[in-house]
This record gives sequence, C-alpha cells and structure tokens, in this order.
Amino acid sequence: MIDYHLHVIAHGDRPMTVENILAYCEVAKKRGIRQMGITEHDRYLDDIDLAAFQEAREKCRDVELRLGIEVDFVPGKEEQMDLFATAFPYDYVIGSVHRVGGEEVDRAENQEVYERWETYDLYEAYFKNVREAALSGRFEVLGHPDLIKIFRHFPDQDVTPMLEETADAVAESGIVVDVNAAGLRKPIAEVYPSRGLLEMFRRRGTSIILSSDAHAPDQVALGYDKSLKLVYDVGYREVVTFKDQERGKLPL
Ligand SMILES: [Zn+2]
Ligand SMILES: [Zn+2]
Repeated sequence: MIDYHLHVIAHGDRPMTVENILAYCEVAKKRGIRQMGITEHDRYLDDIDLAAFQEAREKCRDVELRLGIEVDFVPGKEEQMDLFATAFPYDYVIGSVHRVGGEEVDRAENQEVYERWETYDLYEAYFKNVREAALSGRFEVLGHPDLIKIFRHFPDQDVTPMLEETADAVAESGIVVDVNAAGLRKPIAEVYPSRGLLEMFRRRGTSIILSSDAHAPDQVALGYDKSLKLVYDVGYREVVTFKDQERGKLPL
C-alpha cells in the first residue's frame, strides 16, 4: 500500500531531518506501507531539505520514499504556483484547494467564513476552484477534493449536479484523485472524497492514490481500514504510483 500525501515539517512542527523522516518510515513500515510520499505545504518550501530526504531514502530500506509537494491552488497566482511546483525534482505534485475568494476554509479559527457566505454559494465557489485546479494541467494529483465539508456545514440545496460537473472536469483532465483519510480526524469524520463523489469518479474511470495527510508520525496510514474498505466497495482495485512523474500502479 501507499501513503502519498503527508507532512514531516507539517505546520513548522519539526525540521526535515533524516531522523524525523525515518520516524515516519518506521510507522509506515509497521502499518504495511510500501511507498511513502512526503508532500509539504508550499509555504514551507524553504524548509525542504533535499539532502536529508535523499539520505533518508537510502536508509529507509523497507519503505520506498517519494518526494512531492502540496501546492495551494490559488487562481491568479499561476506564476507562484509554477515556482513551487518546479523547485525540486518531485516525483509528483499535488494541487489542493484550501481557499475560496482567497480565504482558507479549513481552519477552525477561521470558521466565520461559513457565516458570511451562503453555504451553497461557498460550495459552488469551492468546487469551481477544484475544477479549475484539475483542468489547469499543473498537477498530477488533486488533493482532498471535497475539503469544504470539513466542519459539517451542509447546503440546503442538492449539490449532486455540482459534484457531477466536478467529476466530469476531473475525468476530462486525467488528474488522479487523492483519497485522503484526514477527514476522519476532523468534525466531518469521513474520508475525502465522500462515497457519493468517489462513485462519480469511479464511474468516469478516474484513478486514485491513498493518503493519510499525516502531520505527525503516528498519523501515517491512520484511518486506512476505513478508506481501504471505501475504495474497494466503490470498485477500485489499484492505486496509482509515481516516480519522476512517471505513473505506475499497485494492486490494492
Ligand atoms: Zn491540504
Ligand atoms: Zn496536506
């Protein structure tokens, strides 16, 4: 199995040292992970230590290491996003939508954004950005595609057409979807994407990776019992892998 979206530096919690990377590898090994991808948030770009990563990759014999980055998709900041996405020899680049109208929607302390917006409009703006991120062609992977559900603010109106439109754009782009277990640790208490949205991706032939979005070693592969069951139930039998931006696959 793979865990392809996680953070060692996290939110400045620890430096990217060989020792800190190996602490993640230890947990990955114990939990049956064969490939682990480190994908720091773009704002910690200057803290990525390529030499430490390469040394850890040599030392971590049981788990193959990959290097990626999680780029915060912000329309209008294309030049900056391209700088982030090309700064290191990444195996793959994740594009994630965390913002609507420039404001972050996944911070507990910034939840007043959900009061200022009508929830349906917020969802619409969020998924518009998701479609744009997918179709931008900048990313191999689309991070946690329905993050907007994180705090359990649900629109009154049916969002099915909005999700179908998003799944269409994702399929058209050929981007790989991040099935991300971090939602299990948040108020929503479910995997990103929801089962309904994942079924839409599956019906259109969209491929997936699996991830924990760990921000600490003990979160590596956390929640995989639930996400593995989900993807299997929906009909997936393999995940995509990346090495030097070349795609491979592993059976589930
Ligand atoms: Zn994210
Ligand atoms: Zn992340």
